[in-house]
Formats: sequence, C-alpha cells, structure tokens
Amino acid sequence: LAAGEYGQERPGRVTAHFGRTLDVRPEDSDEAVRCHLRANLEGLVTGDRVIWRGREDPDGRVVEGVVVARGERDSVLERPDARGQLKPVAANIDQILIVFAVEPEPHPNLIDRYLIAAEATGIAPVLVLNKIDLLPEGGGELLALLRRYEGLGYPVVTTTTEREDGLDALHARLAGRTSVFVGQSGVGKSSLIDRLLPDEELRIGALSKDSRKGTHTTTTARLYPLPDAESAELIDSPGIREFGLGHLDEQQVAEGFIEFRDFLGRCRFRDCRHRHEPGCALLEAVERGEIHPERFASYRRIVESLES
Ligand code: GDP
Ligand code: ZN
Repeated sequence: LAAGEYGQERPGRVTAHFGRTLDVRPEDSDEAVRCHLRANLEGLVTGDRVIWRGREDPDGRVVEGVVVARGERDSVLERPDARGQLKPVAANIDQILIVFAVEPEPHPNLIDRYLIAAEATGIAPVLVLNKIDLLPEGGGELLALLRRYEGLGYPVVTTTTEREDGLDALHARLAGRTSVFVGQSGVGKSSLIDRLLPDEELRIGALSKDSRKGTHTTTTARLYPLPDAESAELIDSPGIREFGLGHLDEQQVAEGFIEFRDFLGRCRFRDCRHRHEPGCALLEAVERGEIHPERFASYRRIVESLES
C-alpha cells in the first residue's frame, strides 16, 4: 500500500459528528480519526458502528479516513428538530439513565413521563436517584416510591456525588453498556458526569485531533469511554439530556406503563379509553390490585395533559 492511499476496511464507532465530517474510533484504539463520508452514505450519528478505511502519512500514522458503510443499529434516540420532525441524534444506546434527586423532589407523574418516553424508544430505562446524602433518616417516601418501580422490573440505582463511594452502584450499572443520562435541570447530571469523567483528557479523547481545533464542537453528541467501569461508554449532549420532554401520543402513553400491557386489547370495546367503560380490562385490573391506583391516576393525568 502506497502512502496516501486508503487502507483496508476496519470496524469503528462514531464518537462525534459534524455534518458530513465524523470522528471515528477504531475498535483497536483509543484515538478517534477524522473521517468523511462516502457519497452514498447519510444520516450517521454518534454511536453508529461503521466500516471505514484510514489513510496513513509516510510515517504510518492514520491521519484521516473515509466511512464506507454503516452497521445495523440496535437502537436509535430521536429528538424533534426545529420543524418538529423527529431526527436520530444517537445510536446503539443500551440504557437510558433517568436521573432524579432527593431535591428538587420529583413528582411521580414526572418519573412516569420519562419512563413512557424511554419505553417508546425500546431502550432500557434505569432510575437513578441522586443526592441520597439529603435523604431523611429511614429513607422517606421517595425510596418507598422507587421500590414500587423496582417491583415493576425497573433497575434503581442510588447515588451521591458527595461521598467517595457514592457512585459504586452506578459504575457497576454502567459496565459493559453504552448509556445516556437524562433528567430535569438541577438533579445533578453534570455533577455525576464530572465525577465519571474527571479528566479533561478523557473528554477530548472522544474527538479527533482535527475536531479539537474546531469551534463547532459544543453541541454535537459525543461518545466517551468511562475510565472506572469495564467497557462502559457514555453518549452525552445538551439535547440528549433534555430527552423525554417531547410529544407523546395516547397509544405510547398506555403502552409506556409496562404493567398495562397484559391488559391492553382485552377491554370489551375495541376503542375503550379506560375511563368508565363497562368491561374495561385496565379498570378491572386496578380493582383487583394488579395495577397500582397511583400509576393508573398518573396515566389518566398524562392522557388528559395531551388533550389540553
Ligand atoms: P444538572 O442540571 O442536572 O446538570 O445538575 P447539576 O450537576 O448542575 O447539579 C445541580 C446542583 O446540585 C449543584 O449545586 C450541585 O452541586 C448539586 N448536587 C449534585 N449532586 C449532588 C449530590 O449528590 N448531593 C448534593 N447534596 N448536591 C448535589
Ligand atoms: Zn379499557
């Protein structure tokens, strides 16, 4: 292979993207390489697995590359663009960490909203309760509420950025997976990520040398390897952190309550809206104690908020 030619095809993963320019991290290296896209490829996002070819300088260093194919996606996270059209912003995410805090205290309705949005993506949600240093003696109502979500099958992790061992459970949860953090402002997402990625070196590691010089690097989603958890990766951007606050339809809401799924489609009337219809399978399940009344009330409130 002569210097200046593109080498053999190799696997990699997109760590940042800027239009038709991407940073790709080879599978066997920590150093991202600035790549352009082959003409027929479009719509790649951070987290995509790709096949690419690198071009070397006379000293054998890969200086630049071309992405020639995109791999299958396990999952996609979408956000509405300026015109309200859903656009993919990141791919191949294994779990959405929904962060809450002891303060500001979350409304249960809000937890459900995030869970519905996560369920609609097909990506596994995890509930993270941060600021447990502020929990009252005995844990209080919030912990009891989270135990109920655990009972539904959702993993719950408690954290504090105020103690040395405050992130141990989180590290265990991050290992071997690609994660995103979402949640309301003030719950401690930046603090958690600062603790997970303490080193400036680690943060810029997601970017190729060329992209580091650019000025347009702040808003794109980036993929970071996390140093303290085995094969853990984090995809983060301001847009991703705001995930979950967008529009949902009535169907997504009903299906987003996972314990409803056994009963949906079993109502006497096919167009049942689960209010006071006779033979409503959901209302009967609430009656029998198989659906928690507060979850059902939360469902009703969310559906009503769609109508107003
Ligand atoms: P973000 O808006 O979700 O990114 O939240 P920040 O990371 O900016 O945190 C909001 C505030 O909560 C800041 O004043 C943090 O210092 C504080 N904070 C973050 N984590 C903890 C924690 O574990 N315990 C306590 N007591 N405060 C925290
Ligand atoms: Zn019904």
